[in-house]
Amino acid sequence: MSKQVIVIGGGVAGLEAAGQLSKAGIEVSLIEKENKTGGHLNDWYKLFPDRRNSSEVKEYLDGITHHDGIKLLTNTTIEKFNSNKSHFSIITNEGKELTADAVVVATGFDLFKSARKEEYGYGIYDNVITSTDLEEMFRKGKIVLSNGNVPKTIGIVHCVGSRDEKVGNLYCSKLCCVTAVKQAIELREHLPESKVFCFYMDMRMGGAFYEELYREAQEKWGVNFIRGKVSEAGEAIDNKLIIKVEDTLAGRPLKMEVDLLVLMAGMEMSEGGKKISKMCGLNTGENRFFAVADHHYGSNRSNIKGVFYAGTCTAPMNITETISHARAAVSEVMDYLKNVRK
Ligand SMILES: Cc1cc2nc3c(=O)[nH]c(=O)nc-3n(C[C@H](O)[C@H](O)[C@H](O)COP(=O)(O)OP(=O)(O)OC[C@H]3O[C@@H](n4cnc5c(N)ncnc54)[C@H](O)[C@@H]3O)c2cc1C
Ligand code: SF4
Repeated sequence: MSKQVIVIGGGVAGLEAAGQLSKAGIEVSLIEKENKTGGHLNDWYKLFPDRRNSSEVKEYLDGITHHDGIKLLTNTTIEKFNSNKSHFSIITNEGKELTADAVVVATGFDLFKSARKEEYGYGIYDNVITSTDLEEMFRKGKIVLSNGNVPKTIGIVHCVGSRDEKVGNLYCSKLCCVTAVKQAIELREHLPESKVFCFYMDMRMGGAFYEELYREAQEKWGVNFIRGKVSEAGEAIDNKLIIKVEDTLAGRPLKMEVDLLVLMAGMEMSEGGKKISKMCGLNTGENRFFAVADHHYGSNRSNIKGVFYAGTCTAPMNITETISHARAAVSEVMDYLKNVRK
């Protein structure tokens, strides 16, 4: 008899895990709370490091999940979870019961809510936006201010909601430095007359081709990198934004006027993940992401036998890492299922 697995979350990790499990002959129920799959991949227009269109990755994921062996349930959440030795059963929001031999949790991340950093004025000043808002502008091919004018001076603020004791997130979100660099290049491409300034604490470019992108931003596109923390943003009468920066390299405070301020919001454990953690009794760590059984050789295993993790529900990861982590989860599930009796 074939084995059954429930995958919770239909982002990059959940889709990859469902696709690979189905290829191996497992019957998969893929549960996604939204009305479509893809998760945050749907929010990005062009991807770092090579600026390919995100739709190409979505096409790949849609391709591997078009299997008869995958039952996709969108607009679906889990209301009840029961585990009895090696048997799992869940009840969905529509009252449907699903059973399985193993579960893969792939509930991903939420972006830090930038309005929590009141001092930056997100939600107060129209021309303070997030990296996600900017992606939407790139998709539409229109980068304009609230009054319809084209921005001439643009500031990008790193570490919004990460490495920040005040908001309780001590960790680095890992991907916002490279996102800032990618978006700075794209801004210069779209608006060659503009000046772009990135305000950073450290540049963390630890990924394949990230450093090259950083170099390209400086040498080819003339992006200005200022080591300093933006302490606050305010608005002048002419709608310009005044920002205060502590320039830690020059060792002096700086006051600057920009037309547009882009906030690099970090990654946090998703609300959907928190709900699953509470309902199933899955442990979370200090950083509130799911706690893995072992950081070196057990990053897909949870504290419940038969429940595995895939992707950014455990830590910030790029797409390459997410896909590898999902494949590793599948390998763990297959190994586990070999020893499960029907
Ligand atoms: C600003 C920013 C830009 C980025 N740009 C790039 C890039 O250019 N290149 C790159 O390689 N990486 C990029 N990334 C990283 C990339 O977004 C992630 O690697 C990827 O989205 C992780 O996929 P995931 O499936 O783990 O999580 P998610 O994308 O968050 O997917 C999780 C899915 O689970 C669903 N879900 C959550 N809870 C539940 C629940 N309880 N029940 C059912 N469904 C649920 C969600 O609706 C969602 O569909 C970026 C990240 C950030 C923060
Ligand atoms: S990746 Fe860069 S911007 Fe993001 S939290 Fe780490 S240091 Fe800050």
